[in-house]
Amino acid sequence: MAIDGTKIVHAVMEGSKIRESKGIIPLFGVYLSLLSVEYYNNLSFDFEEKMGKTREAEAEALLIEAAQECGYATFQGIRNSWEWEQIVSPMIETKEDQILGFAAVAVAFGWGDLEVKELVPGEKLVIKVGDSYEARGYLKNYERTHSSKCYMLRGVTGAFMDLLYGEDYPDGCFDFSAEEPFCRAKGDPCCEFIARKSSCKKNT
Ligand SMILES: [Zn+2]
Repeated sequence: MAIDGTKIVHAVMEGSKIRESKGIIPLFGVYLSLLSVEYYNNLSFDFEEKMGKTREAEAEALLIEAAQECGYATFQGIRNSWEWEQIVSPMIETKEDQILGFAAVAVAFGWGDLEVKELVPGEKLVIKVGDSYEARGYLKNYERTHSSKCYMLRGVTGAFMDLLYGEDYPDGCFDFSAEEPFCRAKGDPCCEFIARKSSCKKNT
């Protein structure tokens, strides 16, 4: 059976109606919260701006690293959850199908219209996103830029590969790393993320 993204989106929408008193949403084995996209974008891009031009690369690396660690832990929780077992597992036929399941959950979380374009097991993952909230948010507040801006999705693409083909959890984070060769923030028609094995793994 192919992965039915719509079914996963509906399950997340239904499940997210349950909130704790502080607004936390316990779903897919992890704790989620509703967060304004604008707020998150402002945090990221203000941080980058405050770091200044000379430390731009450092700011970018930190934001991607935070996203990758978060994606790694979050999707490890998700794939071990009761909901995953009930809803997604029955659709999974191959190890690679897990990535399609991850992408469908990310779509349901509102992270963008993720589409897996290519997956070479153990080697390479290409994800295309037509409407990344980060690119959209960047263009709303800044001029078109020369560099890609979707740090969260870039980290998450690396994390998906870490979880499938990296060392066993929790040692596999950063075994892969992703680039974003195309980004709407720099005028491309869509954003594209490519994860490959890291040439030198970051010490965490
Ligand atoms: Zn982008």
